[in-house]
Amino acid sequence: MLGQGVARGYAIGRAVVMGAAALEVAHYRIAPEDVPAESRRLTQALEAARADLLALAESLGPDAPRELGAMLNVHRLIMSDPLLTEQTLALISERHYNAEWALTTQGQILAEQFAAMEDEYLRERGADVRQVIERVLNVLAGSCTLAPLSEPPADETLVVVAHDISPADMIRLRGARFSAFVTDLGGATSHTAIVARSMGVPAVVGVGNARALIRDGDTLVVDGQAGVLLVNPCQSVLAEYRARQQAYAQERAELALLRNEPAVTLDGVDIALYANIELPEEAEAAYAAGAQGIGLFRSEFLFLGRTELPDEQEQYLAYAQAVRAMQGRPVTIRTLDVGADKALDGEVTVATNPALGQRAIRYCLARPEMFATQLRAILRASAHGPVRILLPMVAHLHEVRATRAALQAACRELDARGQAYAAGIELGAMVEVPAIAIAIEPFAQELDFFSIGTNDLIQYTLAIDRGDHDVAALYDPLHPAVLRLIAATINAGERAGKRVAVCGEMAGDARLTRLLLGMGLTEFSMHPQQLPDVKREVRSAHTNALRVKVAAALNRAVPIDLDDLAH
Ligand code: PEP
Ligand code: MG
Repeated sequence: MLGQGVARGYAIGRAVVMGAAALEVAHYRIAPEDVPAESRRLTQALEAARADLLALAESLGPDAPRELGAMLNVHRLIMSDPLLTEQTLALISERHYNAEWALTTQGQILAEQFAAMEDEYLRERGADVRQVIERVLNVLAGSCTLAPLSEPPADETLVVVAHDISPADMIRLRGARFSAFVTDLGGATSHTAIVARSMGVPAVVGVGNARALIRDGDTLVVDGQAGVLLVNPCQSVLAEYRARQQAYAQERAELALLRNEPAVTLDGVDIALYANIELPEEAEAAYAAGAQGIGLFRSEFLFLGRTELPDEQEQYLAYAQAVRAMQGRPVTIRTLDVGADKALDGEVTVATNPALGQRAIRYCLARPEMFATQLRAILRASAHGPVRILLPMVAHLHEVRATRAALQAACRELDARGQAYAAGIELGAMVEVPAIAIAIEPFAQELDFFSIGTNDLIQYTLAIDRGDHDVAALYDPLHPAVLRLIAATINAGERAGKRVAVCGEMAGDARLTRLLLGMGLTEFSMHPQQLPDVKREVRSAHTNALRVKVAAALNRAVPIDLDDLAH
């Protein structure tokens, strides 16, 4: 099968086919010695749910509809059916899934079996299975969970196959350390692809019908560069991919040696290579990979997949964790960028077009309390090391001014409380809406730095929804209009004496490094795993020569040929 390869690497593993409900629970594997305790957790939850149903049935008055009592009975029978109980227990003992994951996996298998039945009455029983699973999950949510296994068993690698995975689901999937992701939907810069890249595991998106064709337990080969997906291949093909996997690991190990080498071009231009992170614990890996700082901390990932907003203290601890991990190197914290494909849990999107709706800075300015909480938390983290604040999706000067005012108010509040923060914190804006790229000068007078978010800049320039599978093929980072906007922003920054970085996915794509250097870019921010590839390109480039070639190509406004920029 073919899709779009969006995160490099090879994986060979067993398919774990997941439906929407299965994605919404925590996934982690338990240690073999914890199997009895986890099985007990499940059995007790089933018993408690059964007791609840019985109590409910007994409390029904004589005038309650007969169907209600009958339905409760059916639910109790399902809960005792070995197809649900024994099979779920088997997933815990054989695959070491946590109880929630085992239950939703088995629930999905049963729901699919019901859905395939000829008899309409039986087909409808699938809905009962789903309701039963919900009940048991609710009980499990209130019971103590075991610690996830820190390393998955070496002999078993699992590949997630899903129709689509939201960014919040991706965060939930981190615990189980899957070796690859395959989805029917999605494009190269959908947030699912971005999170897969940040986890350093191969991913193929936009396959179209993987979930329908792949069975749980099938052996899969995933090539995250070519976008190739093989199902139950023969031994010789498996051997070929094992060899490729090894060669790739060897290449990564060699590249890692560049970690402490400077990122300087052949003509002596210093290039700053920063890292993008989604969660504070990733800062350690960024530091270890030699990042000069964090160029983009997507703070919204602290807010996703939960129903309550993180309070000031929780946010402060998270930001301070990243700041401490970077040991004096700057950390650029982007204020909350929710909306569009990163909706908060429980928030129903009513906007006709969420990508053009109340997203990012618009969302924050419309919720002053929530915004003030985040600003105070960021300010407090700045007492532990250099911090910069980055605003997403800025299009209007008044958004910058309103943020400045909110920042000053946050400082006053901290002064009144006697809490420490660094004075003169730098404030910057993402350049991801064409409006700011075209008319950046007044922004340059009021801001300290810019970071070009190419993912959204391409989306908004070409009118291509970055998460929409149907238009993914039209999403073109090399479109002359996109390149001109990037080049114009870098030039305007140079003229105004303000730093300009690129933190979208283009910055981490080593095939585009020479192009960006040729536009005059000196600051890149990317997933930590991409740093060595980009550094290798930087160290072999001659910026003066590239600048001449790129300027000529941009003047012609024809699609650029990357081969023209090759060594
Ligand atoms: C971007 O748009 O390029 C960017 C870096 O932000 P995000 O991908 O989180 O929207
Ligand atoms: Mg963006």
